[in-house]
Amino acid sequence: MSEKKVIETIDLKMTYKAGKVAVHALRGVDLVVEQGEFVAIMGPSGCGKSTLLHILGCMLKPSSGKVVIDGEDVSNMSEQERTEVRRRKIGFVFQKFNLFPTLTAEGNIRLAERIRKNGRLPDSGGVSMSEILKLLNLEGRLHHKPAEMSGGEQQRVAIARALVNHPAIVLADEPTGNLDSEHSQIVLNMFKQLNEKFGQTILMITHSEEAASVASRILRMRDGRILQ
Ligand code: ADP
Repeated sequence: MSEKKVIETIDLKMTYKAGKVAVHALRGVDLVVEQGEFVAIMGPSGCGKSTLLHILGCMLKPSSGKVVIDGEDVSNMSEQERTEVRRRKIGFVFQKFNLFPTLTAEGNIRLAERIRKNGRLPDSGGVSMSEILKLLNLEGRLHHKPAEMSGGEQQRVAIARALVNHPAIVLADEPTGNLDSEHSQIVLNMFKQLNEKFGQTILMITHSEEAASVASRILRMRDGRILQ
């Protein structure tokens, strides 16, 4: 197994200003995720999970500390530079799927692919689109719009969309939060296969112990820190 670090944070802190009050969402997070890991992050509401995910996803700049994503120090990058790193290296899967309602499944996936090509990114290999569609069992649903699909199918489209960039890491924010237990199981199984068969690095926030149990490592957060 490769020892390459896909994520490294050092003494990461995030303080939000809410009027005159400072909210310490992250109070010093040291985290290393190596290539090929499947990490689940758990913890009570408000402990800083989403803040951490948004910083790792280059959507939010930390107040202090260091963040290295796939070898690039993004801690002090401009918003434009962070957007570029996000586009090249990160695939997102959200609780609410976030698909374009007027596009078919294929249209949603191709749109993400076009964004990649417009960015003139080299094809870094990884999982091919046909392999992705086969694994996600989506081949028969490509011409359907989101409203014509079940939640589980929509989430599988969202996962396919996240993978077209061959991202260094997939960040998933409660990916089974809107699914019943049967579809949750299917989606979790797919994450597990992506990780085991293709070595996809995944970091997933979840409230469910069952969901977390498919990961290779579980991190627990409390009050802005990762518990040791
Ligand atoms: P979790 O994902 O674990 O529920 P969050 O990262 O969303 O935790 O929030 C951590 C803390 O930061 C909470 O106290 C939350 O209210 C606060 N917080 C999150 N986003 C903002 C914001 N934009 N402005 C002010 N406070 C925020």
